[in-house]
Amino acid sequence: MTKHDFPIQYEVSLSSIAGHLFDVSLYIHSPNIAGQRLSLPAWIPGSYMIRDFAKHLISLTALDSQGNSLQVSKLDKQTWQVTPTKNPITIKYQLYAFDLSVRGAYINDQYGFFNGSNIFLEVQGQSNSPCLLRINKAENLFCNYHVSTTMSYLSNQTELNADLYEAQNYAELIDHPVLMGGFDSLSFKIADIDCELVFAGGHQSDMQRIADDLSLLCQQHIELFGSSAPIKRYVFITLLTDAAFGGLEHRASTALMYARNDLPGFDEPTIPSDTYRNFLSLCSHEFFHTWHVKRIRPIELVEGTLADETYTEQLWIYEGFTSYYDDLLVQRSNIIPVENYLSVVAQNLTRLQRNIGRTKQTITASSFDAWTKFYKQDESAINNIVSYYNKGAIVALCLDLAIRLASKQHYSLDSVMQILWRDFGKTAKATPKTVIHDILQQDLQLNIEYYFDLDKALYSTEELPVARLLKEFGVLVNYRAKTDLNDKGGNTATKVTKHDFGAQFKALNIGIEITQVAEQSSAYAAGILVGDIVVAIDNWQVNATNVLNMIDRLKTNTPVRVSLFRDKRLLQVMLDVRPAPLDTVYLSIENSEKMQLWLQ
Ligand SMILES: [Zn+2]
Repeated sequence: MTKHDFPIQYEVSLSSIAGHLFDVSLYIHSPNIAGQRLSLPAWIPGSYMIRDFAKHLISLTALDSQGNSLQVSKLDKQTWQVTPTKNPITIKYQLYAFDLSVRGAYINDQYGFFNGSNIFLEVQGQSNSPCLLRINKAENLFCNYHVSTTMSYLSNQTELNADLYEAQNYAELIDHPVLMGGFDSLSFKIADIDCELVFAGGHQSDMQRIADDLSLLCQQHIELFGSSAPIKRYVFITLLTDAAFGGLEHRASTALMYARNDLPGFDEPTIPSDTYRNFLSLCSHEFFHTWHVKRIRPIELVEGTLADETYTEQLWIYEGFTSYYDDLLVQRSNIIPVENYLSVVAQNLTRLQRNIGRTKQTITASSFDAWTKFYKQDESAINNIVSYYNKGAIVALCLDLAIRLASKQHYSLDSVMQILWRDFGKTAKATPKTVIHDILQQDLQLNIEYYFDLDKALYSTEELPVARLLKEFGVLVNYRAKTDLNDKGGNTATKVTKHDFGAQFKALNIGIEITQVAEQSSAYAAGILVGDIVVAIDNWQVNATNVLNMIDRLKTNTPVRVSLFRDKRLLQVMLDVRPAPLDTVYLSIENSEKMQLWLQ
């Protein structure tokens, strides 16, 4: 196909760093003769929230083949219609790009980054037509300018100082994020896949070590799903900042955000630090999605559109299983010791244990309402909603252990993943919400109910039998009080808090500001509210450093006066000093031979 054969052609220029502007031109060879409609997505696949990308579109004009203006009407917040014409048309528009996130489009003096869903108007009625993308080089704006994307490269158009790419359809066009500007990249292999590790934003990290570890780690994904991976090339596009965390999956790449100083520098110990292990888990998570959600897909997402919300109960399968495997595959790659992995599992159990919302919302409901609840969390989230990532991963753990027990180690959750890939991923058949039940019953012919009632786990808020199942594999679940507000669990502790407070807070010059109050806690019972500024306990001034220690030194089960300001009103409430809850989990190995049957 030559350049002239593409019925739809996009041209992107990074036109202003100070204004954070991309200029886009869209050529449509055969517009709808009744009037061509154009639209931008309201959301980006993988991130289930309405983002209204069209809010960043600044101006839009349409021209006929002679360069004359055509009338354009706006139909709704994200749809335009061009007046009817039989000849080719060109649409020109500008986009404001200053959303530094894995979902967005962003321009600063170091690089420009975009997800296609943010900047490419969809030509309604021609979504399945091949598209050409021309990216004009911005060598004058950046040192060491180059482009990184997994979109299929067509050619370097020297005379126009541009790079040309092609996509088979609109869905493919918006599924290859693009990074342009100055950044570091390192090529490496995962089995026979050509990979690239890309770091933008500046860093002092040991990229070679990270690439070597990713190569080992992601080999596990390929072995899990089977020998031939569905991709030939993969890029980890990482936007580094002082403090950030995030990842979004694409069909042959991922966009990540991470804190630059949390990556390993040179000459660091062989055992990864917690922050480096978290980075590996994040990469593991997104790479897993290459199979699981990009190719094995829930039916509701296949049938839905990007114009508005698409509701599905299945995110516990897609995000929960992925969250279980992201850490498990780090463990299988032997990059971390087994104790380190158990500590991560215990941290996930701690998070669920402290989340009172688990008693109110099921994970299928959490998945369905992701758009308005999980993605729009406020200070009440801890009390009222559950995470389909966190609880979904623990359901996956329970399923893995129950399948191993019920099949006498003949099958595991790996077997389920392999069937999902064989019957749904490879064949591009969408999964119904009963898919896991169906695989257990029809393919594996297993009844796991004696060990684990999956329906109860999905459709009720009953506690999961995780401690009982782990004990079958020689691992004990233990509970203790937290050591301080930063204690995420996972390890034993010599000194823990004695008394409960039950509120999260931030430091102020005088006192502390309450940011979250857990139901059933001492603070909740005392009537301490989010936004309160607590200044004294028992008439002694408090601050963020001393408050928990002060509460610990009081007499158990004795009320104490708390002085606080609520909207400038001075109030006093009585705090009942209760024992600290045992809400922090650590795991211990009772029988390592049995444990090997899980973590072989
Ligand atoms: Zn995910």
